[in-house]
This record gives sequence, C-alpha cells and structure tokens, in this order.
Amino acid sequence: MRPDGESEHHGRPTGAFVDVAKIAANAAYFKRLLSPSQQLMAVVKADGYGHGGIETAKAAMRGGATWLGVALAEEGIELRKAGIGVPILVLGPSHPSQIALAVAHEIDVTIFDWSQIAWAKAAVLTHQKPCRVHLKLDTGMGRIGLPAEHLNEAWVETLKGPDFNWVGLSTHFASSDGNDPEPTKKQLLRFLDAIEWLRGQDAVPVQIHAANSAATLRFPGTHFTMVRVGLALYGLKPYPAATGIQAVMSWHSEVVYVKSVPAGFRVGYGATYVTSEPTKLVSVPVGYADGYRRAWSNRSDVLIRGRRHRVVGNISMDQITVAVRDQDPVAVGDQVTLLGCDGDEEISAEELAALMDSIAYEVVTGISKRVPRSYLSD
Ligand SMILES: *Cc1c(COP(=O)(O)O)cnc(C)c1O
Repeated sequence: MRPDGESEHHGRPTGAFVDVAKIAANAAYFKRLLSPSQQLMAVVKADGYGHGGIETAKAAMRGGATWLGVALAEEGIELRKAGIGVPILVLGPSHPSQIALAVAHEIDVTIFDWSQIAWAKAAVLTHQKPCRVHLKLDTGMGRIGLPAEHLNEAWVETLKGPDFNWVGLSTHFASSDGNDPEPTKKQLLRFLDAIEWLRGQDAVPVQIHAANSAATLRFPGTHFTMVRVGLALYGLKPYPAATGIQAVMSWHSEVVYVKSVPAGFRVGYGATYVTSEPTKLVSVPVGYADGYRRAWSNRSDVLIRGRRHRVVGNISMDQITVAVRDQDPVAVGDQVTLLGCDGDEEISAEELAALMDSIAYEVVTGISKRVPRSYLSD
C-alpha cells in the first residue's frame, strides 16, 4: 500500500515520502533557466523545508546545484559532516558563536551590520582563517540587510581587508511572488545602483545574488551570477501559475479503526461535529503533534481508495477522525493520503495552507520530527 512498498518498517503507519529524483529534476529545470556560468543555490534550510536537509542537498546537487543555502551555521555544519564540500551560505543572521562555527567549517555568512564585523574579526583571530562573507543589502524587504544607501567606502575597505574573503553581495525580494511586479522592479533598481557604485570602487564581489524561486521564474533580470531556490525545488508553487516543477513529498497514514454510527453522533473534543446521517467514522493515527494542524479541524480532506473524505471533529494531538459515507467501502489497513495523490485526486500543500490562511512553506516545515521521512528514488 505504501509508496515504497513497505508497510511495517516504522511501527506506527504514519510517514512522509520524499521522491528525491523529483528534487533532482526540479533543480535541473532551474539549471536550464540559467546560463552555464550562473550558479544554482539549493536552499535547504529548516531541514530541507521538512524534506530532510542532507538528502535534499545531495539530490539538488545531482540536478546541478553548486551552492547550498541554510538559515543557521549549525545547519551548514550538518551538511559538512555529511561530507558535502560545496560552498554553503548562511542566509540568516548569525550570533557570534555561530560566526565562529562558520569560520571553523568554511561556511559563508551573511553580514549587514558593524557588530558582525567585530564578531567575525574575533572568530578570524581564533581560527586563523578568513571569514567568507556576503554583504546583504536591504533594498525594500525591510528585514535583515544594510540599508542600500548606507553602503560606503568604510564597508568596502573593511571587506577588502585581510580578515575577510568577500565572496558575495545579496538582497532579497519581498513581493516577487505577488501580482504586482512594481515593488520587485524598485528593489532591483536599488540593487543595480549599489552594484554600479561598487563597480566604481572596483569592489564587485564574485557572487551577486537576489532571486528566490518566484523571482527566478518570473524575473530573468534578477538572476545575476546565482539564484537561491528553495520552495520550487520541493515542487511547491511560489505562485499559482508556476509550471515546470514536480511535487516531491507525500504524507500517508492508515485506517486503524472503523465504526458505523447513526445520525446525531458527536465526534471529538468539544463535539464540534455531529453526524447528520449514518456514517462510518474512521480513525487515523496522526494529529497536531505530527504537524497535522488543529486549524484544519472540520475543514481538510484526506484520500482513501482514491476518494476525498472530510476530517471531522477537532483534530487531536495524535489522532484524526474521518467521516466516510455509509455506502462507501473502507477497512482497517486502507492507506490514507494526507498530502499527495491517490488515483485522480490530490491533496496539495497549497490546499492545506489555504485552510489555515498560510503558505505551503508552513505546511511542509510543520510536519514534525515524529513523522519519519522515507526517500524514494526511481
Ligand atoms: C529562504 C530563502 C530563499 C528561498 O526562497 P524560496 O521562496 O523558498 O525560493 C532565498 N533567499 C533567502 C535569503 C531566503 O531566506
């Protein structure tokens, strides 16, 4: 019943399946959008968006990724310990101890404030290795980043100094997945101005990067020397019309109990659902502690035998209840698809995200550690 043909290796029959061949294919799709000299950074932060950081990184590299992006130095070190030698960039802010770890493991850090310069210098002194840095400019995201207009000679002089290996210049778009291209174009112009100013100083670093998944697909003028692709690598659409990428993860469980009940039967904590007709109530061993969000109570569907069925009553920590019409066949041991395809039906991460007013990123990164990941390849 399970996509890998095994049913018992995890004990509890709840698990996520990651088709790493599709990650490689999605990376290769992005690689084809670039010129041969442009680099593809696979963003594998947060354990590869919940897909498994190391497995994802290796698959993306098979598909042509030559850089890896993480949020924390610790995530980069896990990749290094797995024997991965390609350049790794910490995209998020780093604490002094994290900068020291990055220097020790030759992992690039993102910097944007003088406090980090001081921390980096201390780490360089300790480890006797230069700090590999990417200067991040805020061109309109309003998050981390040196305000683009604050870039000046002092920064250039410092980053060209002996303590640093100035590898990159970056920015990040706030609205490249939205309907209005104007904010992205404005950010791009500010970034281009900064690059122009650095050119005048003869101080343009090797890697210039700005684009996430959405910008890479929609704005070829943002590719520069490298793009940073996360979401789409996992086959998740950065905007509804995105094409060319294939879904990667599915999440399954099994029917563990079926009970036929009459109309008027109350279901779950708080009895938020009452049957309106004779119904088969199906128990499935997955709950909010697994990342099957309580916000989906009485709203989400699952697939059993290729058909959609509604999750009813409040989702518990470790269980959900599904209502199956009295006339539909269902039995203990049937596969339950929480995310992914069964026959012609599909439950997408985008669909589940919409049920809680969120985005697909939060659905996949929210599938908890308690759900074992299995890796499928052709
Ligand atoms: C997470 C992240 C990305 C990847 O964004 P996606 O939308 O997942 O492609 C790119 N750049 C930075 C700085 C990030 O933090």
